Amino acid sequence: MCPAETFGRALSASAQGRATIVAKSNAQEIIDVHCHCFAGLGQMKLVNRSLTRLRNAGLRHLAVMGLVNPSLKAEDVWKLIPEGFDNLGDPLFNEADDLLQFTRQNGSLLFPMLDTRFLTGDIPGLLRGYVERGFRGIKGLYLADDGNDLRVHSAPDTFGISLQQYQQREWQIFAFAEASDLPVLYHMDANRYGDVMRAILDDFPRLRINFPHFGIGRKAFGKILDRYSNVCTDIAYLLPHIQRNPASYADFISHYPDRVCFGSDALIYQPEIVLDYMKLVKSLKLPEEIENKVQGFLSESAPVSGDIVRPELTVGSENMKTSGCLSPFEAKEVFTDRGIITD
Ligand SMILES: [Zn+2]
Repeated sequence: MCPAETFGRALSASAQGRATIVAKSNAQEIIDVHCHCFAGLGQMKLVNRSLTRLRNAGLRHLAVMGLVNPSLKAEDVWKLIPEGFDNLGDPLFNEADDLLQFTRQNGSLLFPMLDTRFLTGDIPGLLRGYVERGFRGIKGLYLADDGNDLRVHSAPDTFGISLQQYQQREWQIFAFAEASDLPVLYHMDANRYGDVMRAILDDFPRLRINFPHFGIGRKAFGKILDRYSNVCTDIAYLLPHIQRNPASYADFISHYPDRVCFGSDALIYQPEIVLDYMKLVKSLKLPEEIENKVQGFLSESAPVSGDIVRPELTVGSENMKTSGCLSPFEAKEVFTDRGIITD
């Protein structure tokens, strides 16, 4: 199974369910592999309204990245958050309890993924604890220096550690994810950090990983997709770019039909953004088979890419395949200003 499918499908339906879906022409199941929380139980009504609207629009599963902050001080927290995102939840971004509560309240709709950007210390121990509490995947971002595309602070500087120590932390995260077969959504710029990206993929060949936003640049990232079959990507944050050049993006998606996931980078209380992405995919007029793959990887009969076996995950009462994919919702204007994605 290809990565996008596994990711999406981890969030997707059983074979039996799919047969039913396909039989109904208007009953497409959409899986958004890339949303963020930024809300808490204080916004329960707002969040529930949002989720109801999305469910009614055909959304079947929503992967939500939940931040946790065991030890970072307030003045450091915002160094690692891109500008332009409205946090309605805990001011220090301790979202785990509330996201897991939202998850329990919404059947199999939500797929909580742990955002690891603030973690320090005993990484495997921390990850194990969060997974035991209910997280089903891992989210990370590569912030090796101040030159990252998100224009956020360097993680090594923020934590007062060396680049090597920072990379060791990331490697521990990947090792845990691979050993636990957890999907990973990892924001990383293939242009700037291509060598490190290849090192990750060489060291963790069984990782199910989504480098979102077309790896921040199709030219560099296409080479990664060509070389590593366990990698997928998503269209999150690319709406303005895709709208400007739909034919080019439709070509790219059609070239990697099993690798591109539907993602919006919306916050959990922003249904209109997810709906805009649904319309965007429709507007590309992709062949139905490809559109279905992008929106939910529904095709159970899709060819297996590589010989990687990805056990199904059980979410709620359903078997859901999650193939690695997740990312940060990092800065819209950053992409636009620098034109990084438009290659
Ligand atoms: Zn994101």
